[in-house]
Amino acid sequence: MRVLLFGPPGVGKGTQADLLSKKYNFIKFSMGDILREEVSLSTSLGNKVENYLIRGILVPDNIIFELVKNFLKKNKEAHILFDGFPRTLNQAQNLNKNLTQLGLSFEVALEMHLAEDEIVKRLINRRYCPKCNKIYNYATKPPKTNGVCDHCHTKLIKRSDDDTNTIKKRLQVYEEKTHPLVDYYKSLNVYNQINATGSQEDVFKKISEIIDAYINKR
Ligand SMILES: [Zn+2]
Repeated sequence: MRVLLFGPPGVGKGTQADLLSKKYNFIKFSMGDILREEVSLSTSLGNKVENYLIRGILVPDNIIFELVKNFLKKNKEAHILFDGFPRTLNQAQNLNKNLTQLGLSFEVALEMHLAEDEIVKRLINRRYCPKCNKIYNYATKPPKTNGVCDHCHTKLIKRSDDDTNTIKKRLQVYEEKTHPLVDYYKSLNVYNQINATGSQEDVFKKISEIIDAYINKR
């Protein structure tokens, strides 16, 4: 089974992806992790990737596509959760081509949806611990002691791109590049929209219901 989870920054994708992986035994497909792994293996592809990462340049699609292909071949039998990838229509079409070639397909595409002002509110309230990387939110998930990490008592900080202007720009990029996936996955009959308001548990319940419905239908 292959599931795609996508949505704008700040919608709570990461948390849901973790919960889903645990409940349904998904292998998570995260492009960032795959790039880092390839670099650490020092393959010829990995060396190319490292060159881009060092220079801070976006890794071009032809390399991304090769990595996707390798990953799919290796994990043909696995349940995969695509977390934040594909990001563009071009990537989505390539992924689908690769799946088809292997006799596979996407079963469920889930878009987490939240109104823009709610996203801005969540992101400007987001803080993280620079020591253990735990993420807090003054609006939805505050630390026990104001401004301090529950685990290691380090002072929490704000990510530099979590200010209103940068957030609006990131949302614009999402709208332009990623939103076209909605029509694409609708055309493949796998699209589902999740209303991401409410608690993490509520949202997880909604997502689980969709996946369970698919599993029961099989
Ligand atoms: Zn901490």
